[in-house]
Amino acid sequence: METIVCASHNPNKAKEIAKITKDFGFDVITRDEAGVPLMFDVIEDGKTFADNSYKKAFTIMRITGKPAIADDSGLVVDFLNGAPGVYSARFAGEDCNDERNNDKLLDLMKDVPEEKRTARFVSCVTLVYPDGEIYSAQGECPGHILTERRGTGGFGYDPLFLSDELGKTFAEIEMEEKNTVSHRARALAKLGELLSKRTDNTEQSANEEDTGR
Ligand code: IMP
Repeated sequence: METIVCASHNPNKAKEIAKITKDFGFDVITRDEAGVPLMFDVIEDGKTFADNSYKKAFTIMRITGKPAIADDSGLVVDFLNGAPGVYSARFAGEDCNDERNNDKLLDLMKDVPEEKRTARFVSCVTLVYPDGEIYSAQGECPGHILTERRGTGGFGYDPLFLSDELGKTFAEIEMEEKNTVSHRARALAKLGELLSKRTDNTEQSANEEDTGR
């Protein structure tokens, strides 16, 4: 098992990442376990999910000296021209939390007809190694914004996001079911494909060295 540090503060995200990447042979430890001070924060000032996820992974890798994985994700609502997007976590301003972010979204989407309520969750995951290797992949999952909350589980915008594929909100289902369609699971699956190519290449180089080629 290879130990990697999850750069996210969010325990829900860290759990999702740990569960999925276990299959790639990773033992994911939290920032706390890796000794990153609780108050230390990476400023997410990138314009894209990819910018922010690279910045988080790179910074935590530099602090811990270990490979680090970060996710940057958010909700992209078509009617709002892509908002809240990279600002999803702080959509409702300074004192925001999930409740207030969801209230703001409901407010902005008031009276918007069903066919215009399309949205998607997007996640970009980046894994940065101390030797400079970088792997990055993006995943999406399509859905609709409901007119009221449904379900009590999950986090963030889960109660308002009706998955087109499951016909349920992410707040109505267990993590296992969410991981069958979620943006983060899809980004991580793509990352797994990239990493398996890396393993293949490493094995191939080792074989070539063994045979003196
Ligand atoms: P960040 O990636 O830490 O900047 O924050 C992403 C924000 O997007 C979260 O705080 C949530 O509001 C939202 N978000 C990302 N992924 C999910 C998800 O799977 N469910 C619900 N909300 C999510």
